[in-house]
Parts: sequence; structure tokens; C-alpha cells
Amino acid sequence: MTAMNTPTPEYDAGFNTRAIHAGQEPDLRTGAVVPAIYQVSTYKQDGVGGLRGGYEYSRSANPTRTALEQCLAALEGGGRGFAFASGLAGQDTVIRALLKPGDHVVVPADAYGGTYRLMNKVALPWGVEHSIATISDVEAVRAAIRPGQTRIVWVETPTNPLLGIADIAALAVVAHEAGAILAVDNTFATPYLQQPLALGADLVMHSTTKYCGGHSDVVGGAVVTAKTVAVAGLEDAEERIGFHQNSMGAIAGPFDAWLVLRGVKTLGVRMERHCDNAEKVVQFLQGHRAVTAVHYPGLSTHPGHDVATRQMKRYGGMVSFQVGGGEQQAVDVCGATQIWTLGESLGGVESLIEHPARMTHASVRGTELEVPADLVRLSTGIEDAEDLIDDLDAALAKSVG
Ligand SMILES: *Cc1c(COP(=O)(O)O)cnc(C)c1O
Repeated sequence: MTAMNTPTPEYDAGFNTRAIHAGQEPDLRTGAVVPAIYQVSTYKQDGVGGLRGGYEYSRSANPTRTALEQCLAALEGGGRGFAFASGLAGQDTVIRALLKPGDHVVVPADAYGGTYRLMNKVALPWGVEHSIATISDVEAVRAAIRPGQTRIVWVETPTNPLLGIADIAALAVVAHEAGAILAVDNTFATPYLQQPLALGADLVMHSTTKYCGGHSDVVGGAVVTAKTVAVAGLEDAEERIGFHQNSMGAIAGPFDAWLVLRGVKTLGVRMERHCDNAEKVVQFLQGHRAVTAVHYPGLSTHPGHDVATRQMKRYGGMVSFQVGGGEQQAVDVCGATQIWTLGESLGGVESLIEHPARMTHASVRGTELEVPADLVRLSTGIEDAEDLIDDLDAALAKSVG
């Protein structure tokens, strides 16, 4: 069992070693190499206040969750990790812990739809305002900042579903100059491909539902804070997030924490395979006559290619493309694949296909965040690339016919 109050150990080991061992010492009593699922609400105290390892009640802390939190902090190179019931629960905690009514946030123009809904329908009525900016344009972000009022510059990179790239290091400078923190949703890239804290970000958020869990069997979220936050008034971001996590209680349960921890062990090998397959799929799509545009940061023609090359190890498993036959063809392709499963979400071992305009991004139709109707989004899984390509080829042929 990992003691709750043990600081995140300093691991100078490589990424995969950290993924498999950080926060996961073999059990002291039995030697079990995998952390147990501590399905428990309360803990015996050795005399009043005599806590063993700091555990008193599982909303405050639970050993399985601690193991995951320490592992994620080690993978992101952060000071402390926090695991939540979902990605949005973590984001809600960030907003409520670090902001107060009257504060302002800069939000990416193609933010995850649920993030935008949280800003627009929950934070805004509470009094936290936001401006939308094209996050790939550093000057547009600078212009959207309200000096003295903006407290968070929110970044997603790559973005969903158009795979836009934001320059994390440049935006960290812009945010800090204005007295704001830079918060990065690292769900698409994962800490394996991109380490925002090392580039100057102050906190990282994840939907662990996606690549960190990686097997489409759990909903979860995480927040990792930087070792030091140097923005005036937000130096205590870590304590505030910890306080709100306990006060509001949107924690990851023991079994969900365990599933994510299990998924994280193979994150590095899975991401390599996701990237290999995505690159092959992109190559196929580029050569197809029905495809009018392919969006992938690994393409030298992608507007964010140079920045992506600087800040990412590889370019990830997400791909989107547009078709010449418009919305109907895009919808038809999504309905015609056999191996690519039609569904929302992303980042699992199985390949998924979807139509953003009618599915994941239906709620932003008619707003500034609207996505093209002829767009298809792919979450490339780790099946055999040849099968994935054959399946797409057949679906495209059917959709044209
Ligand atoms: C899915 C997702 C979220 C929300 O996470 P949930 O686990 O569904 O609450 C946030 N950001 C991005 C980029 C996502 O893909």
C-alpha cells in the first residue's frame, strides 16, 4: 500500500519504467506486484487520530487511487496528481478551485464540446466569463486575454476533431505575462507523446477514459499540477485542487482507478502502435480520390506541423478527413465500416469512426465552434493496419456507389 502522504517519488527512470512502477511498490505484507483494489470506505485508526499511512475515509484518499495519482504525476513530471470520476469532473474542479465569479478564461475555438458546455452553461452562470480564441494563433490568444481578469488560458493540443496544434511553450509565456496560468488538456497526446509541464504549463488535465485507460472500459479523469506554480495568487493551486477534490468528492472509485492504472502500464507501447497505424491510414487516405482533405499533424502540409514536431514525440492516433460527397457521404462512410466501430469516445485499442457534426460536436452546431459537415473522425486503434485500411477502402467505395 502506498502511503497517502508520501510525496510523489522522484523517478529519473524512463517513461515506461515509471508507467509500470511509479506509485506501485509491491505490497509490503504479501509482495503482490500489482496494487490491490482497496474497495473500502473507512480505515481502522490506532487510537483516535492514529492513521495508518494517512488514510481515514476514501473520499479523502484511497490507496488504489493514491497509486494512480502518484503514477500520473510521475508520468507528467508534476508535483501532485488527482484522479477524478471523469475528465469533466476534473475540469470542473479546476474551474471551481482556481476561479471565482468575475474571473475570465480563454477557451480554445475547437475545445472539447463538454469543456465548452462546462464553460458556457455552468461556469458562466456562476459568473466566470470566457472568450474563445483560435489556440493555434498565439497573437489571437494574447488579444483574447483580459489583463487583470484572465486567470486561466486553457489549451487543448492536438484539438478535436480538426487536430489543430497549439504552441505550449509560447502560450505559457503569454499566459504568465498576463498573470494567468496555462492549463493543458493533454488527453489526445498523453504524457508519452507530450509533456506540457516541461514546456511551461502549470497544470495538465486528462480524460483517462481515452488513451490512459486505453481499453474503452472505464470513465475517469485526472489533473496533475506543476511542481511550482509561479503565478501570483495561484501558487497554492495544488492545495486548492486537493481541497476541492475532497470537498466536492468527484473522485475516481477504487476499481476505476485500478483499471486506469492497469491501462497506463502499456501506454507507451500502445501509443507507438496507434501512431504507426495512424500514419499508414493517413497515407492511404491521401491517395484516395474521394478524400478532399486529411487532417494529421504529422503531415508536412499541416499548419501546425513544425510546432508539433518540436513539442511531440510522434503525432498520435487521431486522424480526421473530409470527403468530396459532402455530409451524406461522410455519414455513409461512418455507417459502412466493419472493423472501425461507429461510436463516440477515442483512445481505445479498438478503432472507432464517427461523424463529429452529428455526434460528438452536435451540440456546437450553429456556434463559433461548428465543425465541417463533410468531416469524418478516426480514432486509430492497434489492430493490423492492413485490415483497417481495407475496411476504410470498402466503406469509401460503398459510400460513393
Ligand atoms: C473525452 C474528453 C474530455 C471529457 O472527459 P470525460 O472523461 O468524458 O468526462 C475532455 N477533454 C477531451 C479532449 C476529451 O476527449
